[in-house]
Amino acid sequence: MLLTDKEVAILGAGPVGLTLAKLLQQAGVTVTVYERDEDAQARIWGGTLDLHETTGQEALARAGLLEQYFARALPMGRIVADEQGNVLFSRGPATDSPEINRNELRTLLLHSLADGTVVWDRKFTGLNVHDGKWQLQFENSQRATADLVIGANGGMSAVRTYITDATVEYTGTVFIQGEVADPQRACPAFYELCQGNILMASHKGNLFGANPKNNGTLTYNVILSESDEWLNEHLNFQDTAGIVQFLSDRFSDWHAVYKQLFQATNLFRALPIRKLPLTKPWKQDRPLPITVVGDAAHLMQPFAGQGVNTGLVDALTLSDNLTNGKFTTLQAAISDYEQKMLVYATAAQRASNQNELALRHPDFSFQNLFHGAVEKTGSDH
Ligand SMILES: Cc1cc2nc3c(=O)[nH]c(=O)nc-3n(C[C@H](O)[C@H](O)[C@H](O)COP(=O)(O)OP(=O)(O)OC[C@H]3O[C@@H](n4cnc5c(N)ncnc54)[C@H](O)[C@@H]3O)c2cc1C
Repeated sequence: MLLTDKEVAILGAGPVGLTLAKLLQQAGVTVTVYERDEDAQARIWGGTLDLHETTGQEALARAGLLEQYFARALPMGRIVADEQGNVLFSRGPATDSPEINRNELRTLLLHSLADGTVVWDRKFTGLNVHDGKWQLQFENSQRATADLVIGANGGMSAVRTYITDATVEYTGTVFIQGEVADPQRACPAFYELCQGNILMASHKGNLFGANPKNNGTLTYNVILSESDEWLNEHLNFQDTAGIVQFLSDRFSDWHAVYKQLFQATNLFRALPIRKLPLTKPWKQDRPLPITVVGDAAHLMQPFAGQGVNTGLVDALTLSDNLTNGKFTTLQAAISDYEQKMLVYATAAQRASNQNELALRHPDFSFQNLFHGAVEKTGSDH
């Protein structure tokens, strides 16, 4: 096997890094995951994820974890409401692709790995070559060595510069993400309106999506067609009251039920939407084997529900290539993975791009969406 007596370092304990670690470990590979979070309990921001049958679910099935995904995830329906809080459309729970909380997914994957596979509190800062091996540097002067480095450290990955000169681009959409603890008590009218479903609403270019059942909290996104410069100039996310005021003004013609939600919000976060262009050829002159997977490889707008699903296909494709005995060198196994990945990730980016353009259209409405226009939009609630 290509990786006999070799050490693999995966940077990042996100869903893609951990799934890849599991797939390699079950094939007998020595693998360590280095994660910047302090420990396994660190809270992960963001909405729930739904894994698709032929991509994300396929990867979990190969890792022997599909049943656990279904046991921990929640099938959710969809509701489209108008700005006055009237329900315009509803659809029953999607039992084939239930929604899983990000920490739940991390826990599920961690439990499947050998003890000590993940080293916490290791923020990767740089790499160099020493004695025929990669030497990895982390904050606080920690170091490690590896024969193969795989960057799974998300859309702003620093290790990506070893592989491509492409840099992330802002798309002109920003999310304001909000979280409400104990929503039944904190914003009962809005919680009631959702009826346990993911709720979407749009009015005059302001878009909104909420998930009332994200492991005990309610998470929501306000989606605005604004630039990252606008975000920096106009909003201060240290000032929660200021963000509540901004949203109440921006949604002034919306029903009080939405404003009650803004008032009840404990935490806000800004998320300017970015993507990594895949048009530039990737570097071939790498000193030792190295590649990237997941958002580190193909960050895309979250408008087609394909980001994590595409990343899990990376985990499957790369682990297969590294362990199936069909390649004679690590470079060949990596190069084949990258060629395949660039094709399917480009298609996923295209779908995400098209959905973003549809959302930004002045006539966009979530109600029309459910009459077949776009498969999944504004998906992180
Ligand atoms: C608003 C929003 C909604 C989304 N909705 C969906 C959806 O519905 N469906 C879907 O398929 N996808 C969705 N996505 C995309 C999805 O979240 C990502 O594609 C997915 O999380 C990528 O997984 P990953 O493991 O590659 O990276 P990440 O989840 O970003 O994990 C990266 C890990 O690396 C760690 N890390 C980062 N830097 C370092 C460092 N220097 N050193 C060590 N560790 C580091 C991080 O702490 C993290 O644990 C959404 C994204 C957003 C922003």
